Amino acid sequence: MFTPLAGKTVIVTGASKGIGRGIALRFGQAGLNVLVVSRSLAEAEKVAAEIGPNASGFAADVTRVGDCDAMAATAVARYGSIDVLCANAGIFPAAKLGEMTEADFDHVIGTNLKGTFLSVSAVLPQMKAQKQGRIVLTSSITGPITGFPGWSHYGASKAGQLGFMRTAAIELAPWNITVNAVMPGNIHTEGMDGMGEAYIASTAACVPMKKLGSVFDIANAALFFASEEAGYITGQGLSIDGGQILPESPMALDEMGTA
Ligand code: NAP
Repeated sequence: MFTPLAGKTVIVTGASKGIGRGIALRFGQAGLNVLVVSRSLAEAEKVAAEIGPNASGFAADVTRVGDCDAMAATAVARYGSIDVLCANAGIFPAAKLGEMTEADFDHVIGTNLKGTFLSVSAVLPQMKAQKQGRIVLTSSITGPITGFPGWSHYGASKAGQLGFMRTAAIELAPWNITVNAVMPGNIHTEGMDGMGEAYIASTAACVPMKKLGSVFDIANAALFFASEEAGYITGQGLSIDGGQILPESPMALDEMGTA
């Protein structure tokens, strides 16, 4: 039995849809106060309304230091603490090398990696004053473990988050602040629906569990990292991918028996 987190406060960035929305809903269900953050206030407020009175929306662009600082200040003003930060906002436009521009590269690194740094930096004064905090980054299997054509900048940003995490975990340990990362495989988000059933089926075929993950598979892992009981875990990345990174070759999947 895990210690209830009801009454604590979480900030979730990139929470208007996809994995961030799943994290916000799951933490809301666990009774935390949830600051739902995206660049669109209207979209953030929609998710907050789904959660209920313990949630509210806030508009912030994680590439902007002023927005991140305002986000942290708002969480403290509305709820009195920041116990958990889920730094989840991220983008994944594709561009192959040779076509990728400097602006493309900067945009992805600026959002995914610098956005992580700015979001974490913004909550630190409050977490340090509390002498307690949980930071959960949304990285990926892409970059830290695997690659995919068109995503060299994305993979670098997601691997960079883990490099950032390891040193942040050491620096913040004296304040009882842990820093960990969830590393999703292929997760069924609203965006995935638009790509069609054939795409979803072919992606699922590469996964030993033969299905895509749900946003709640990621949210549950984030909730574990946020728990009292995970207090001695820091600087760790957890792949949540139905075993996707495990097969040595397509034959490993062909050789699978059926249950
Ligand atoms: P998504 O459905 O496209 O949602 C992205 C969220 O981030 C939205 O809420 C978006 O809201 C917000 N966002 C984008 N840029 C932002 C910015 N500059 N400042 C603040 N918010 C911003 O994406 P997702 O698939 O859920 O991915 C979420 C995270 O999971 C990302 O870090 C991604 O790398 C990671 N991930 C996803 C998968 C997957 O299979 N889906 C796999 C591995 C890792 P606004 O547009 O309103 O700002």
